[in-house]
Amino acid sequence: MTLDLAAFAAENGVKYFMISFTDLFGGQRAKLVPAAAIADMQVEGAGFAGFATWLDMTPAHPDMLAVPDPDSVIQLPWKPEVAWVAANPVMDGEEVAQAPRNVLRRLVAEAGAKGLRVKSGIEAEYFLLHPEGDRISDPDDVAAKPCYDQQAVMRRYDVVREICDYMLELGWAPYQNDHEDANGQFEMNWEFDDALRTADKHSFFKFMVKSVAEKHGLRATFMPKPIEGLTGNGCHVHVSVWDADGTTNAFAMEPGGDTPASELGLSADGAHFLGGIMKHAIGMVAITNPTVNSYKRINAPVTASGATWAPNTVTWAGNNRTHMVRIPGPGRFELRLPDGAANPYLLQAVVIAAGMSGLDSKADPGKRYDIDMYAEGHKARRAPKLPLNMLDALRAFNRDTDLKAAMGAEFSDAFYKLKMNEWQDYMRHFTQWERDKTLDI
Ligand SMILES: [Mg+2]
Repeated sequence: MTLDLAAFAAENGVKYFMISFTDLFGGQRAKLVPAAAIADMQVEGAGFAGFATWLDMTPAHPDMLAVPDPDSVIQLPWKPEVAWVAANPVMDGEEVAQAPRNVLRRLVAEAGAKGLRVKSGIEAEYFLLHPEGDRISDPDDVAAKPCYDQQAVMRRYDVVREICDYMLELGWAPYQNDHEDANGQFEMNWEFDDALRTADKHSFFKFMVKSVAEKHGLRATFMPKPIEGLTGNGCHVHVSVWDADGTTNAFAMEPGGDTPASELGLSADGAHFLGGIMKHAIGMVAITNPTVNSYKRINAPVTASGATWAPNTVTWAGNNRTHMVRIPGPGRFELRLPDGAANPYLLQAVVIAAGMSGLDSKADPGKRYDIDMYAEGHKARRAPKLPLNMLDALRAFNRDTDLKAAMGAEFSDAFYKLKMNEWQDYMRHFTQWERDKTLDI
């Protein structure tokens, strides 16, 4: 039965709902709707001018109505009189096909029609910076290898504990928090879930972390490489595919057999799904690593801690963090490519799109490289290299016609157009670097 948001408000003391949708660039847009008006809004949706956000629309387009998905409602733990609810954009009575949450819902439904449920967990790393955003907030956080630094994590205990408490309250089953590999960087892990639920939680997590940080006079950022020379913000995705009722992992098998994937406990279907990820990896980078800044994280020189922990080639391996894909144990794999700028909905969508195409075509994931890619990358010369910048990534996306079709033509055209505009905007921007290198030529 559909949850009645007006009744939810009355029972829980909610005064306002944030009806929230996510645009193509991952921006979360919301209207604050008083509880007294939510009954109609639950049916009709809240009106937005799509052109005013990062969607491919004009000022002449009619109202875009964001219709709340009541299953996603979350009372803000830090302000319980407000409830956030993810919404599905509709225009002229039809779902807006380019809207990221609609893209994901369609792909989830397509997998469901084949009796499959994609589940995923994410590791959304973030930095705690000064409010100005130009430096880390803790002046004593200077260790050369700051990962798991117990002293430094305790200096930010008030922030980390507050966020973790809220996740406990929300029933997300968080299970660990740590100081990550860059000075000022943290990671918090919670239980995996269905792809759409994980995307909603990922969106809410970003909103929550930024809100709690602001409350403490800090600024949280998920920017892929916010500080030069330090490890960047990854957003690793752990993927498994289950049967329709979500009880049997279709990827899992007893490790054994005679293929590179089965030796690690990945079933034939799991290997084909991974094959799709490998096949479309270059094409999907524009979505998993969607900003100019993203390319300062992948393909980066060694960081202050000794490793970037980010991939630079399309390779996979067992429990080895130097590759694009790691199989840490039977029944799942970790895609280490995405960064903190990835749109939570498009990230899950592109994994399903690529993976399902691999299942359909019985794709082979190719060679398993059991090497340290950072030290022995020369042994994998034939492995495709990841794009070096956003333009290369966008061109690769545009060439991957199968992936574009799976993500939907309307979405793919809109995304490519707006992102190319962004690249051109970037190219018009002058930098001190080019003055320094060129002034006296
Ligand atoms: Mg991490």
